[in-house]
Amino acid sequence: MRYLLANLPLNLGEEALDLAVPLAHALGGRAGDYRAVALERRSLDARHKGAIRFLVSLSFETERPLALGLLPGGLKLDPAPEAAPYAVPPVTRKPRVVVVGSGPAGTFCALRLLDYGLEPVVLERGPAMGERVKAISGLWKDAVLDPEANAQFGEGGAGTFSDGKLTTRIGHPATRYVLDTFVRFGANPRILYLAKPHVGTDVIRRCAVLIRKDAEARGARYRFRARLADVRFDERGRVRAAVLEGGEEIPCEALVLAPGHSARDTFEMLHRHGVAMRQKPFAMGVRVEHPQDLVDRAQYGPSAGHPSLPAADYKLVCNFGLNRAAYSFCMCPGGEVIQCASEPGGVVVNGMSNEKRDSGFANSGLVAKVNTADFGSDHPLAGMHFQRTWEQAAFRAAGETYGAPAMAVQDFLRNRATGRLPRTSFRPFAVAADLRTCLPGFVQEQLAGALPVFDRKLHGFASREAILLAIESRTSSPIQLLRGEDGQSVSHPGLYPCGEGAGFAGGITSAAVDGIRVAEWIARSAGAEVFQP
Ligand code: FAD
Repeated sequence: MRYLLANLPLNLGEEALDLAVPLAHALGGRAGDYRAVALERRSLDARHKGAIRFLVSLSFETERPLALGLLPGGLKLDPAPEAAPYAVPPVTRKPRVVVVGSGPAGTFCALRLLDYGLEPVVLERGPAMGERVKAISGLWKDAVLDPEANAQFGEGGAGTFSDGKLTTRIGHPATRYVLDTFVRFGANPRILYLAKPHVGTDVIRRCAVLIRKDAEARGARYRFRARLADVRFDERGRVRAAVLEGGEEIPCEALVLAPGHSARDTFEMLHRHGVAMRQKPFAMGVRVEHPQDLVDRAQYGPSAGHPSLPAADYKLVCNFGLNRAAYSFCMCPGGEVIQCASEPGGVVVNGMSNEKRDSGFANSGLVAKVNTADFGSDHPLAGMHFQRTWEQAAFRAAGETYGAPAMAVQDFLRNRATGRLPRTSFRPFAVAADLRTCLPGFVQEQLAGALPVFDRKLHGFASREAILLAIESRTSSPIQLLRGEDGQSVSHPGLYPCGEGAGFAGGITSAAVDGIRVAEWIARSAGAEVFQP
């Protein structure tokens, strides 16, 4: 019989040894009694700074009869679950499908459609990876923005130049499909068991190209520099064709809209057609950056620097009541702060890292909740206009450049000008500026209220070494396209809103899973007896 033992503690260093040894220690017998031991999950338990350890779940086989259930020390023994196959029931017809966007949502939608034998056309407004990398280097080195090739637009979508965290709490069975796919195309297999899987931008860029080439070999057709400019509907509002910039029409029965949260022109076009959508709250603020060893010391205490420990992360929240809260967002240990603008005349920052997370810096979004009442208008696109207004203010604060306006945390708290900026990883360059000119008042207040609280929780958070860079405005979509239980737009049949931009995901894995769900809906409409997506 195969068993699963959960919550087994391992001291730092033990994770690299024969795992049958701690198993025998916990369950009795000798290490040789336990066969085919496999690591199913590993998380870090850093609650007690002096005794940091890993908690692991192991599956194994043994001839010894074992009692199931709770064991002393918080251990739990169960039969190992059978891996559920992710089935592909046959379709009875093959509708023509166009997928807009090659981000995680569009990519995984295309992959899953291919499983069903449906061969989609994938439209991507930005260029393929090689050209995209060159354009982004131009932005990070020379502060020149290409509005169609940047950290938001181009092959792989927004997740490509990212921290590559694959963590999600959605608990959907397709999550495993996503992780398996990344491993099949080059990611380290440890992402299958780590509680906080991470691949890094260097790995994700390679994976994105290999996944696309595999999809092409299976029948998908990718079109780069192919922006969806319009949609042709019939008189009843049903999708008839995707219209590219330049006028080319691609007839289709299903049009998957996975354009990410930065496709403002696309949302404007959809709004002109009366596609059902509504405002959605999001968050806005700054990136905060520290030396990584400051965060390691605060989180790991005397164990900081132990070779078994990854660059430390953190998650901080400060609630102010009345639907107001400031929190850390998308923390990047060992990463760098990058320019993520996609519109001329606007500045946007975010964070990314390589697989090794060894930059020496730690950054995260430090953001406050923006409620729809803050948008100042009932217009469905008001949140988008709100974002743009503050991104343009950040551009002005950076001296009308694609640098980032920046301030020392201590100067922000004391409301005084920053002379010399703390060290930062930001590219192309940080500009000392008054960040209060490029943040809404209620955001400033919450950040100023949260910083001392965070400093108490994580020693040094508001120290002299901490820097703030503006503006972190693209935390999630400020819009949601409304879809029904069959995945289609409630106003326009055949339109399938998908992923983060459409308001159904937040992050790489959840966007990828949403792409798979949309593919299942399309497969069902094509006659496949799929389970509930
Ligand atoms: P996107 O990835 O935004 O993809 C949309 C694609 O559609 C783009 O390629 C765009 O060019 C294309 N497109 C847009 N409009 C059109 C059009 N009209 N015609 C044709 N193509 C169009 N998430 C995590 O989970 N972990 C992280 O560590 C992480 N780090 C991040 C770091 C950075 C710097 C950024 C910017 C984001 C990060 N994210 C992270 C968020 C994550 O990238 C997104 O949640 C995810 O990429 C959303 O996937 P998506 O497919 O819905 O949209």
